[in-house]
Amino acid sequence: MRRPIIAGNWKMYKTISEALEFVRLFKPLVVASTHCEIVIAPVFTSIKAVSDRLEGSNVAVAAQDVAPEPGPGAFTGEVSASMVKDAGARWAIIGHSERRQFFSETDESVSMKTRVALGEGLLPIVCVGERLEDRDAGRAESVVEAQLAGGMRNLTASEASRIIVAYEPVWAIGTGRTATPETAQQMHSFIRSRIRAMFGDSVGESIRVLYGGSVKPDNIAALMDQADIDGALVGGASLEAESFAQIVNYKERR
Ligand code: PEP
Repeated sequence: MRRPIIAGNWKMYKTISEALEFVRLFKPLVVASTHCEIVIAPVFTSIKAVSDRLEGSNVAVAAQDVAPEPGPGAFTGEVSASMVKDAGARWAIIGHSERRQFFSETDESVSMKTRVALGEGLLPIVCVGERLEDRDAGRAESVVEAQLAGGMRNLTASEASRIIVAYEPVWAIGTGRTATPETAQQMHSFIRSRIRAMFGDSVGESIRVLYGGSVKPDNIAALMDQADIDGALVGGASLEAESFAQIVNYKERR
């Protein structure tokens, strides 16, 4: 049984006081939600305040990135995995497509960050996903396969078993254009088969693969019905407590 994960990626939104106001509204809405793990990823500057406010609750905190070097060291502007852990994060999003697109993130840096995060005992959510031109050219699977092989290279099966993969087709992020549940399921099943080939059947079966790309309260249930979709990484719809709680509580709303 793979326990579902619903994770919210706040990107570069919310000041500390806005983040705490979200927490105030959100916590009671999900207090009884035991069917899944709930994670929110605020900006670095809010991790400590949000983590403190969520202590003892069923909501965990993720960093949106970590430095590729364990540090400490002379890396101006970087924040290390140990520092986000010290601030209260237990998870880390790595290789989000916006980092790949705007900040030159590569499979090599994803691999370094994943190793550093694992070394600190964080749970890495490693993002993969093809661009529209890749899909249109019939390259969706080969692009995702290369991202998985590059981002997870040199890991042992035991390390790989602690990773969460997020499949986020770039053409579906922030566009309102969600992959159909069937299209997403096809890629999730492909991802699981690649993980099986790389790390063995047991890791392939147990690894959790999240879907991300315009997940909303009205499409989450159909996505979660798919055999290989184990949760969601949510951007825009995680910014508002009510809509993110509706996504978390997709089961009760059926
Ligand atoms: C994301 O940022 O990971 C994402 C999936 O965004 P959105 O839900 O807004 O498409």
